[in-house]
Amino acid sequence: LIKAGRVLDVKAGKYLLDYGIITEGEKISQIGPWAQIKSHAPPDAVLTDLSQATLLPGLIDCHAHLLSSGQIHRDSAGNSAISLVRASESARALMGARHAREELEAGITSARILGHSGIDSDISLRDAINGGWLVGPRLQVSVRKIASLGATTPPFIEHLNPEEIRLVSGPEDARRAFRENLAAGADVIKIVVDGGKGDNGLARYMAVEDARAIVDDAHRVGLKVAAHAEDQVAVQIAIDAGVDSIEHAWSVTDEQLTKMKDRGIFLCATDLLVPVSPKDRLERALKVGVKIAVGSDMWIAWAGKTRGEASLLVLDVLKKEGMSNLEILRGSTIVAAELMGWSDRVGELRPGKFADIIGVTGDPIEDLSVLQRVQFVMKGAVLIKNSLVGN
Ligand SMILES: [Zn+2]
Repeated sequence: LIKAGRVLDVKAGKYLLDYGIITEGEKISQIGPWAQIKSHAPPDAVLTDLSQATLLPGLIDCHAHLLSSGQIHRDSAGNSAISLVRASESARALMGARHAREELEAGITSARILGHSGIDSDISLRDAINGGWLVGPRLQVSVRKIASLGATTPPFIEHLNPEEIRLVSGPEDARRAFRENLAAGADVIKIVVDGGKGDNGLARYMAVEDARAIVDDAHRVGLKVAAHAEDQVAVQIAIDAGVDSIEHAWSVTDEQLTKMKDRGIFLCATDLLVPVSPKDRLERALKVGVKIAVGSDMWIAWAGKTRGEASLLVLDVLKKEGMSNLEILRGSTIVAAELMGWSDRVGELRPGKFADIIGVTGDPIEDLSVLQRVQFVMKGAVLIKNSLVGN
């Protein structure tokens, strides 16, 4: 039995004052005005008094790399370069365990891991969390990224285990790569449509036939496809292939945004680590009505911050790019849950959904920065942390 000062209804975009929540097992069984909920609580219910807090659904990171940790190096002139230290599979898994706990403690209760997980360490991490060995968010994992033969993205590709990106050429090979990931246990498929440029400056796009083959096979078994696509050609390939989300989409056109809306393709906004230009794309996307899900794309070690704290820095960047606080909150909860195909279980505080609840002091609709200091975290009705005054 939780007594809440107020609960954020992310769908309605308003607060419900003096509310109560009853959990049963891992789920929310009832939520409503405190007087009513109190009278429904079983006599042995344990009361958690959060009457000074604002509660909201646990946050969702739609683009995480929990098994990756890049380092930023600076030369004497102050130029920075990022490299990824090549790590063994076992080291990757342990790194993932640490980052998963840090994400959860920061208030991120669900996440999609979209590559850079070694070969299949994301599977081990997901299963360890689900099995109760570790604490971490609910995860959907992609296993290996699938990219075109010759891809040079990311720029530190030479520092990676060459096996952690599956390079394909032709629809048959693309289908084979999909089936390998499916057999390994993938929950979501990640394709890289623009795989960078080689020394000759020519782009290494995935062919639309290859992307479509993967999407067709994935959709047949109910898996979604997330496409890394930065430039307009890549975005068009992703749209034509029928992917479910386009990650980044830095230079998407209005015409492409309209197609994304018509086809229900989400834009996963990951604007923290890459300076975005032009800066108005999120405002244009909102105007068109494209659903925007929030993703951190956090894959580097951020000095002085846990992985979870670093991941949440993206929220402030999205605000600077013109999203309202409420749109960012929705993109991190209800819209993100829809992208994951998990609307039936997370993203809102409603009966029948997992009791994934976070608490803050203050008003996140007015001041998004309170999410940098999440004080109460519950996942599946299990208390992860509570540093609210009086507890
Ligand atoms: Zn990424």
